Amino acid sequence: MYDGIVQDLIDELGRLPGVGPKSAQRIAFHILQTESFDVSRLATLLTDLRERVRFCDVCGNITEHDLCTICRDPRRNQTIICVVEEPKDIVAIERTREFRGLYHVLGGAIDPMRGIGPSDLRIPQLLTRLGAADVEVEEVIIAADPTVGGEATTTYLVRLLKFPGLTVTRLASGLPVGGDLEFADEVTLGRAFEGRRVLET
Ligand code: ZN
Repeated sequence: MYDGIVQDLIDELGRLPGVGPKSAQRIAFHILQTESFDVSRLATLLTDLRERVRFCDVCGNITEHDLCTICRDPRRNQTIICVVEEPKDIVAIERTREFRGLYHVLGGAIDPMRGIGPSDLRIPQLLTRLGAADVEVEEVIIAADPTVGGEATTTYLVRLLKFPGLTVTRLASGLPVGGDLEFADEVTLGRAFEGRRVLET
């Protein structure tokens, strides 16, 4: 245990995901002892993150504007929407370069154990979006994580997505079960996109 500020910082860092007490201590001492470390830049970035970064009005991706760069890009295919759990999944899919459509971020997956139901996710926004799109959406790809919650979410969505002329697909199996899309390698994720299959709605 250290005194005052040092311990406060270690405690605070230790609350971050993936940072244990030892790492928290190492980071605190790095900041304390490394003269070239730009504390004010880090402080400004953290403040800006909370003040300026928000969620896209349309898709729920992170952005510093009303709309994210993907929703603002006229070259993206407006007729196909890929539904993901988190903004970080978009990053993983973009890395594969297999997909040129738009996204919809749910903000998680259905998880009764943790009290997360459909109403806690951005599902109504998806339905509104499909009903009100300027360009008719022809395909919705459900790209939930290959987990129990992801499966529950996919099953739930399939039942809801009954729009005339809309094809609902999901990624091909082959992604590591229990994992997170963001941890799938680009080739595997790219293949899962190519081999996506149609679901009966
Ligand atoms: Zn967007």
